[in-house]
Amino acid sequence: MKFSSILGQDKVKEKLIAQVRNNRISHAQLFSGSEGCNALPLAVAFGQFINCTNKQENDSCGTCPSCNKYQQLIHPDLHFTFPFFYQDKKREVADDYIVEFRKAFINNPAMSLNDWMEQMEESTKKPNINIFECRNIIRKLALKPYEAEYKVMIIWLPEFLGTEGNVLLKIIEEPPAKTLFIMVSESPQMLLTTIISRTQQIKIPNYNRAELENHLIKENLTNVSNAKNIALMASGNYNKAIRLSSEVNESLLLQVKNFFNICFKNDTKSIVDLSEKMKDRGDMKNFLLYTLEILRLANISETQTESNPNNEEEEKLALTLSKLLHLENRIKVYRTINQALYEIDRNGNMFLILINISLSLRNNFKRDLKVGS
Ligand SMILES: [Zn+2]
Repeated sequence: MKFSSILGQDKVKEKLIAQVRNNRISHAQLFSGSEGCNALPLAVAFGQFINCTNKQENDSCGTCPSCNKYQQLIHPDLHFTFPFFYQDKKREVADDYIVEFRKAFINNPAMSLNDWMEQMEESTKKPNINIFECRNIIRKLALKPYEAEYKVMIIWLPEFLGTEGNVLLKIIEEPPAKTLFIMVSESPQMLLTTIISRTQQIKIPNYNRAELENHLIKENLTNVSNAKNIALMASGNYNKAIRLSSEVNESLLLQVKNFFNICFKNDTKSIVDLSEKMKDRGDMKNFLLYTLEILRLANISETQTESNPNNEEEEKLALTLSKLLHLENRIKVYRTINQALYEIDRNGNMFLILINISLSLRNNFKRDLKVGS
């Protein structure tokens, strides 16, 4: 993980890079911040930067052998401890779940504890970091680094250590040479004070609303009007913003698909039902903006080979539409919807506006059918 692939957090990145540049890496650090502030990816990126053999000015190279292994979380001198589900009789340690952990992190570096529990398909048991794991940390750190300059031990969510964390006090205070402890905590107030006092704290702030909003738009994760609402709802949580944008898009896609479908079938009753349900101007605008987006994608899918990698379902719908609705008729519908957006802003009657769009769609589908037959 390179620093550049983590959104924002420039001040934190600068601080971490300065530690390396000034040769003042504290051996035990506590990254603390709320869920979704990207603390875990920052810890991995920090370890990768420290051990990169071809450091760039403000980032790791991403391609040297060390970076390569770091990016897959398979570097032999990179260790993880994380909460898992302690089975009473077995002496399980985090390494027993490392394959699942790597998969979950690579799939979503900003993952929350809940995402991790879902990956483990466990929701009934309580996650924990047990005494066997604490002893395993001490055992692993006693070994010399295999190939890196620094051995890095990342403890994700050390709040799950409980009082067993006491076992680690000595090694945190006096770790073997060239060993770096990074604890990544969402609730540092739950850690033993004896642990906190032995670490250097790096506070990681929540994202601000504009940062999240701009990111969603720039990465084409949702449309402009949804991005604003999602950024507001996410309250600074990056992970939540990404999840909400995919949920909102999914439900909008279903609505738009259904709308095209009932217009195509000329299902008057469903058209009236839908028009009666659309009461909120904001929702209606989002719905229509997204319909325009699908029409735009239909044009692209017809004229270019460029595909929209964000959403396969979206692409499928656009392709179907490009076949059912010829360009000339698509443009007519496009104009009707644009006019509707103008009227919504001027307090036009929502019911009539949607009925009008449905008629335009239905008639244009019909013209195409005639051409086709
Ligand atoms: Zn590198």
